[in-house]
Amino acid sequence: TPRDLLRYAVTRFNTAKLFFGHGSVEAIDEAAYLILHTLRLPLDKLDPFLDARLLPDEVQAVLDVIERRTVQRVPAAYITKEAWLGTYNFYVDERALVPRSFIAELIPQYFSPWVADPDEVTEVLELCTGSGCLAIMMADAFPNAHVDAVDISRDALDVARRNVDTYELQDRVTLIESDLYQNVPKKKYDIIVTNPPYVNSASMGKLPPEYLAEPQLALAGGVDGMDLVRRIVKGAADLLTDDGLLIVEIGNEREYAEKAFGDMGLTWLTTSAGDDMVFLLTADQL
Ligand code: GLN
Repeated sequence: TPRDLLRYAVTRFNTAKLFFGHGSVEAIDEAAYLILHTLRLPLDKLDPFLDARLLPDEVQAVLDVIERRTVQRVPAAYITKEAWLGTYNFYVDERALVPRSFIAELIPQYFSPWVADPDEVTEVLELCTGSGCLAIMMADAFPNAHVDAVDISRDALDVARRNVDTYELQDRVTLIESDLYQNVPKKKYDIIVTNPPYVNSASMGKLPPEYLAEPQLALAGGVDGMDLVRRIVKGAADLLTDDGLLIVEIGNEREYAEKAFGDMGLTWLTTSAGDDMVFLLTADQL
């Protein structure tokens, strides 16, 4: 029964000390999600099915998923090919980072108070878009905006394309294959937003095994993690409107980021929740 499989999965997940930071919080959440998904049961209908008798191939399918998750340490999102960010559901596979970003929590509030009027935001640039998740949420939150979404990885852009199509935002989100600003149109943006690779070399080796399933290109930021961040900050001034805003996710790399920005003589604003940190730089500070 699903109840037996749930018990078994939780035990296996806890014994293997899985990393759940890609979506779930605890073993029980992820076990329930993977079991319901594999059995194609509605995600809100665990209770009525807990004691249902399963067919042998249904049991086998769930056992296979438990093996992939615990032995190969494949993130749940790559097994189910989907991930949530806020209320949004995105297609995802190994070609793009599993959608997650503290920036996603700030978008529904329109980056208030830094953006005065969401209706007046007309041009947005997102760098390192990956699955396209933030570009899509930006297009939704800023109804008058066009979003140019950039990635260096054609593979990632194929994933983003699929999500843009699903959300029917083809007219409002343009995907651009580009090494940061290289192929970006020469226009002025109200907001440049990015969750770039920012993991420093020492930390790369200490990431949970689940991170090895992700594109390392999307994580590694050089010796101090700030290689891309520095390039992003340096190039932003030319592309921002006079009252434009650059929003950069830094995660838990606060010290490295403050050092890098200090070396460039910049001042910045921050917002954070726990270890997740976002730096904001206004055009006149750049
Ligand atoms: N610490 C970040 C995370 O786990 C790394 C992602 C990034 O480099 N942008 O999500």
